[in-house]
Amino acid sequence: MTGVRRAYLKTGLALVLGATRTDRLIQLMSGTRRLPLVVGYHRVVDDGRSLRASIIAPMLVSRRMFERQLDWMGRRFRFVSLDQLGAQLESGGAFRTPTATITFDDGYRDMYEHAYPVLKRKGIPAAVFVVTDWIDRATPLYHDRLYLLLTRDWSAAREVLVELGVMTAERALTSRTFSEPFGALRFLLTTLCQEELARVLAALEERLSIDTDRLDGLKPLTWAMLAEMQRGGITVGSHTRTHALLTRESPSRMLEETIGARQALEERLGVPIDHFAYPDGAFNTETVEAVARAGYRFAYTTCHHRDRRHPLLTIPRCVLWENSCLDPGGRFSAAVASCVTSGIFHFASGCRHRHAVTRESDVSLVRR
Ligand SMILES: [Zn+2]
Ligand SMILES: [Zn+2]
Repeated sequence: MTGVRRAYLKTGLALVLGATRTDRLIQLMSGTRRLPLVVGYHRVVDDGRSLRASIIAPMLVSRRMFERQLDWMGRRFRFVSLDQLGAQLESGGAFRTPTATITFDDGYRDMYEHAYPVLKRKGIPAAVFVVTDWIDRATPLYHDRLYLLLTRDWSAAREVLVELGVMTAERALTSRTFSEPFGALRFLLTTLCQEELARVLAALEERLSIDTDRLDGLKPLTWAMLAEMQRGGITVGSHTRTHALLTRESPSRMLEETIGARQALEERLGVPIDHFAYPDGAFNTETVEAVARAGYRFAYTTCHHRDRRHPLLTIPRCVLWENSCLDPGGRFSAAVASCVTSGIFHFASGCRHRHAVTRESDVSLVRR
């Protein structure tokens, strides 16, 4: 299905559901009505920047659209902090009024530069889940570095991936996954563990160089910015030490990533760190157990279903970006926003994540 056709269908469905109030019925059926809305953002950028072909587009929202989405939510929901939300979920008390909370993943510097001033001006509480080893560092996160390398020279990058054994030469030519850099990026991130990704990065960096102009905007928060925001009412949570997808890592690495990040934050910020967000929303029974052992009280996914044994460690989230709430004409649509935030599209299409416990992958890197 093409993007445009999908957008038309989405808007059509949104309008029909909105008109017939079926959305309320579906919310009731899926059980999400009792849950608050937890929104996940990544990067908030300058208005002009998002319009240009930019880095990993689904991670971006312009400041203008960010405000638009906040204003729409503000009319429908009561904003609470993550701590207030957690306390209410823990007590088992019902959410009598529609409740929402705003979160950011990764800890990009533009959250401080563009989102924090807007939130402060509007008096909206929010939270940020940071990758602790990345704070104060000069090099971008590995998924950004990978994407910059893959898009630098896609055919040369593809050759490197074939040489490494990530894919066969035949697959490189025939598979849709490898027809463009973003598909390859998703494949690498969801298939390989951190150690293997580091090997792929090193091999790509040996052959290709990153265009330094494109590094602009890929900087992390500093500890000073984080402390300032925390004093200003932003809740700080953890997003692992290195942005490892826990479902791809060994049990010992899982603990290192989760406990290590919590300890680093508690040491630097002097407060208990209770909240955790799974990188890429990737979780399974093993990772949920690891997060529980690491001492977190609340953890957030990007799914709309929960683990019955650990409901507080699988709190659903709705990820929003620039185009999330647009109609096919590119205009903000309240009907689409309503469907997106209520999870109806997810309910209709089911979960796309794989939640089975398996670390085996169909890829074996040559230089093991
Ligand atoms: Zn992330
Ligand atoms: Zn899921």
